[in-house]
Amino acid sequence: MTISVRFAPSPTGRLHIGNIRTAVLNWLFARRNGGSFMLRLDDTDRSRSTEAFAEAIRADLKWLGLVWDREARQSDRLARYEAAATVLKQAGRLYPCFESEDELDRRRARQRARGLPPIYDRAALKLTPDEIAQRIAAGEKPHWRLFLTNTDPSRGLAPLPTLVTWQDVVRGEQTVDIGSLSDPVLIRADGTPLYTFTSVVDDLDFAITHIIRGEDHVTNSAVQIQLFGALGAEAPTFAHHSLLIGADGQALSKRLGDLSVESLRAEGLEPLAVLCHAALLGTSEAVAPYASLDELAARVDLAKLSRAPGRFDIAELRALNARLLHMLPLDAVADHLAGLGFAISTEFWEAVRGNIATLGEVRAWLEVVNGPLAPRIEDANLCATAAGLLPPEPWNAETWGAWTAAVRDATGIKGRALFHPLRLALTAREAGPELRALLPLIGRTRVEARLKGQTA
Ligand code: GLU
Repeated sequence: MTISVRFAPSPTGRLHIGNIRTAVLNWLFARRNGGSFMLRLDDTDRSRSTEAFAEAIRADLKWLGLVWDREARQSDRLARYEAAATVLKQAGRLYPCFESEDELDRRRARQRARGLPPIYDRAALKLTPDEIAQRIAAGEKPHWRLFLTNTDPSRGLAPLPTLVTWQDVVRGEQTVDIGSLSDPVLIRADGTPLYTFTSVVDDLDFAITHIIRGEDHVTNSAVQIQLFGALGAEAPTFAHHSLLIGADGQALSKRLGDLSVESLRAEGLEPLAVLCHAALLGTSEAVAPYASLDELAARVDLAKLSRAPGRFDIAELRALNARLLHMLPLDAVADHLAGLGFAISTEFWEAVRGNIATLGEVRAWLEVVNGPLAPRIEDANLCATAAGLLPPEPWNAETWGAWTAAVRDATGIKGRALFHPLRLALTAREAGPELRALLPLIGRTRVEARLKGQTA
């Protein structure tokens, strides 16, 4: 069996950290198993879906490095949904209903008042074929509901409750009582098919073997298992991962806008750091940086995912990003640096990577190296002496040691009293990369000028 998974966002907004978790878990699962990863755009809600969001989702996935093997768009597949609806109608599993929203609201209010759960009462099932034909002939447009049952509806209403059970890769055995659910609307009165339905048709047509998604879909899964059955198919394997919550323990939903791929990217965070964080939160593995998606794939086993929510803390993501940068070679970040407008050398990267938490911070060190920079002169005499002792270029990693030894011998100043004023004069900062590495990058002309208190 070829493993086949899909990531199915609706193009009604940008991807955020919650979607990224679903996307990366799918991608890694495909990678581990030599399977394929599909991007499916769930865009049947035409009023909210836009091509601009679809394009943004593609761009976000590309930036993350989550390449997909195939792509489908639900709006291209309406004929397939119609054909599947015909199958369901013929099997008596899809039935027309004519209640207006107001009417349904009133019924639910009455049920609540009587202490009953507000479940659709299946009144429409009592309509005769003639009554249905008359109402349609009179111009009424039905919406269509799935008859939820484990028995043959032609034998009358099934006795409830009806339990749907499956083995979830993450959550173990799951049981949902579909008797507590309303028969879901699969097709709106305007003919638009709804996600619950289109998703199943797609998963069948594209031979999806594993549905990996957030645990907010657990109830949907019970309904969709029914739908797979009604369409004469076995349901794929399900894996419902836990959702992310904020560091404060609250749902992330309201803050997801700030946690879009777009904004994480604008912060200068590395896609790999974002992916390691999104995939490893709420697992038994330590949330650690991995230098490639393959290394990460080797660590993430869906069966070992915890059911506890992953606590997302942007400060931890930033720290993870810093740890990742400290270990990555220049070629792993060169494209992203170029995207930020930076062209830098290997020597520069190796000098500064241990001192940055995001790639954006490269800018500050480029200013230190290339100037102009106003030096901070703490000990003017020391700096003047040091300027006089600067050796001629070319400079290398040994220059700093030789030069400061000469300054020490000439002044008797050593240790911090020597190094700190030199660092302030050369970088205008209290701390930073090793001066041994920075000195040749700054170059003699600028070093000399700064030691003399000049902006250079
Ligand atoms: N479009 C659905 C969502 O974003 C897809 C859910 C699924 O994976 O089936 O929630």
